[in-house]
Amino acid sequence: MEKLLKVGLIGCGAIGKEHCRRIMEKVPGATMVAVASNRAESADALAEKYGIRSFGSDCNGLIADPEVEAVIITSIDPTHHDYVMEVLKHEKWCFCEKPLSQNARDCEEIIARELEIGKRLVQVGFMRRYDRGYAEMKRIIDSGELGAPLLIKACHRNVSQGPGFKTENGITNVAIHELDICRWLLGDEYEDAQCVRVRQSANSDKGYDNPQVVLLRTKKGCFIDVEVQVADGYGYDIQCEVVCENGTVKLPDPYAVVRRARPAGWDSVKPAECMPIMTDWKERFIEAYDIELCDWVAAVNNGKLTGPSSWDGYVACVAGDALNASRGTSQFLKVDTIDKPALYL
Ligand code: NAP
Repeated sequence: MEKLLKVGLIGCGAIGKEHCRRIMEKVPGATMVAVASNRAESADALAEKYGIRSFGSDCNGLIADPEVEAVIITSIDPTHHDYVMEVLKHEKWCFCEKPLSQNARDCEEIIARELEIGKRLVQVGFMRRYDRGYAEMKRIIDSGELGAPLLIKACHRNVSQGPGFKTENGITNVAIHELDICRWLLGDEYEDAQCVRVRQSANSDKGYDNPQVVLLRTKKGCFIDVEVQVADGYGYDIQCEVVCENGTVKLPDPYAVVRRARPAGWDSVKPAECMPIMTDWKERFIEAYDIELCDWVAAVNNGKLTGPSSWDGYVACVAGDALNASRGTSQFLKVDTIDKPALYL
């Protein structure tokens, strides 16, 4: 019989439940054996659903358990660094949801530990690299058929945010996806970055900036402009267009039928043409998450990770730190990284 990778999961919230379901129902070569969370009852409920072990709130106990060979971290952002370091203490495989950490310095510690071990053990949940739309954009850019890429115009819009959300999280939690995908699409590194505060939306009276505009320049001179709206009041809307010398490539909208009709009960209103807009990140990239975890498990079972690394998590955080430091200065700040270790080449 095929040997299954025994996975443990920390953080039984929205994406934790999704990833648990994926490992149990979608991903070949692995099975979830244990879960833990901040509140024991969240872990107990998820464990009961799948008939697996609950470590309650003993997350470090789950990591140390000899049965657990690999750990998925889906707890809240500020906990990621410490759990990744704990997994690395036991030299186990680790899939950490984005962001790898809250700042670049903490990511450097993770990199230093991986270098000490001499092996990549951490993959970061930058799942957009597994989305068919982004993958096709990259294929076309890399083929060179449209000439060199010059500019990226992107936007990241979320419906709303939970309590405790801060302006800086617009970068560290939300725009972090763009900070990864743009350098991946371009095959280029960031030179400098600036975060610009623009006219504020009426949806943003909750103590954080909304929208923010993220500007980045790359080493090869490309210019990137990302609109970040964390409370747009209408949908989860992700857009990206790369302008090249001889044409452009644009992220396709998710498949949706355009309806021409009067809304029900609105007989006096003119018929309208409308396309449903998704409101939930779980649906928009559902296939990418599936492919991402299948790829991670296959790589672990093969003994060599190939997906987004600690280095990728680190670079996104370096750019994020520069953006957060630049807010209100009207200046581009350097995106200065340490030298890239050979382990990540
Ligand atoms: P969520 O629904 O709020 O779930 C977060 C979970 O973290 C909660 O269930 C909470 O547990 C748990 N938690 C809090 N403190 C903890 C601690 N000290 N130790 C262990 N667990 C702790 O949030 P979410 O949307 O699932 O997001 C979770 C993470 O995934 C975030 O880092 C987020 O950035 C990332 N994420 C990534 C994507 C993506 O597109 N790749 C999408 C969504 C989320 P209790 O319920 O037990 O209190």
